[in-house]
Amino acid sequence: MENKKEAGSRKVIVDVSNVYKSYYLGREEVPILKGVNFQVFDGDFVAIVGPSGSGKSTLMNLLGCLDRPTSGVIVVNGQDVNQLDDNGLAHLRGMEIGFIFQQYNLIPRLTAYENVMLPTYASKKEKIDYPAKAEELLKMVGLEDRIRHKPTELSGGQSQRVAIARSLINEPSILLADEPTGNLDSKTSEEVMGYFRELNRSGATIIMITHNHELAVQTDRVIAIHDGQIKSDVPAAEYVQHLKEEQMTVIEQLAAHEPSHS
Ligand code: ADP
Ligand code: MG
Repeated sequence: MENKKEAGSRKVIVDVSNVYKSYYLGREEVPILKGVNFQVFDGDFVAIVGPSGSGKSTLMNLLGCLDRPTSGVIVVNGQDVNQLDDNGLAHLRGMEIGFIFQQYNLIPRLTAYENVMLPTYASKKEKIDYPAKAEELLKMVGLEDRIRHKPTELSGGQSQRVAIARSLINEPSILLADEPTGNLDSKTSEEVMGYFRELNRSGATIIMITHNHELAVQTDRVIAIHDGQIKSDVPAAEYVQHLKEEQMTVIEQLAAHEPSHS
């Protein structure tokens, strides 16, 4: 079987060029993203890291067609989001984007199965047998015996697995996860990460925001955002090296300030 990750010319799934995004407080413009550029290829697994408030979720919402850039171009699966009206944007989002959030965002009165089916009420692809697909996905995330359970009857890890199944129901071309393990303990986080890795191995394109360096370095590539700009965009192995160097600098600085007892 062809290994997608080694294929010569891979398809660009997300193309971000010179993107700016501002919010407005009254008349005052508050710039959040300040000239962001990157591309994500079919089959990539990308982590986005950076301090709170640096603009990660703002960027994710643009990639997920929940919002539009103030300026610059975002092309998702061949479609320039600036060229789409609100309906077009919603259609692209429903068909091509799977979202996973920190808070799971499940509907409390619906069962796991009904939550997974929810996106299909707004957007449908003809070729998909949805009831079979929903069951298959819940089985894939190890919840075949929780299909009729409601979110209150599920643990955090199980809820996030329902959300993963829901994100995949329309066979999107890209999965966007905004701090998907932010509410989970470290063991459950690793479990959820395991599903992402497995999905990626079978070809899924994934962009995941995380504060967890141990998870970030399990992806292919780490994009670090600071104050609305990309500070670095490197293979995960190189990012590990950055982290080690940063730690060494901190240790050296601490050592330099140690009171001497001579
Ligand atoms: P991150 O996800 O990196 O923590 P966000 O993208 O959520 O950061 O937010 C970046 C900045 O934009 C923050 O200062 C936040 O307060 C501001 N912000 C986010 N959403 C809005 C909004 N809808 N209106 C105004 N300001 C916002
Ligand atoms: Mg955020």
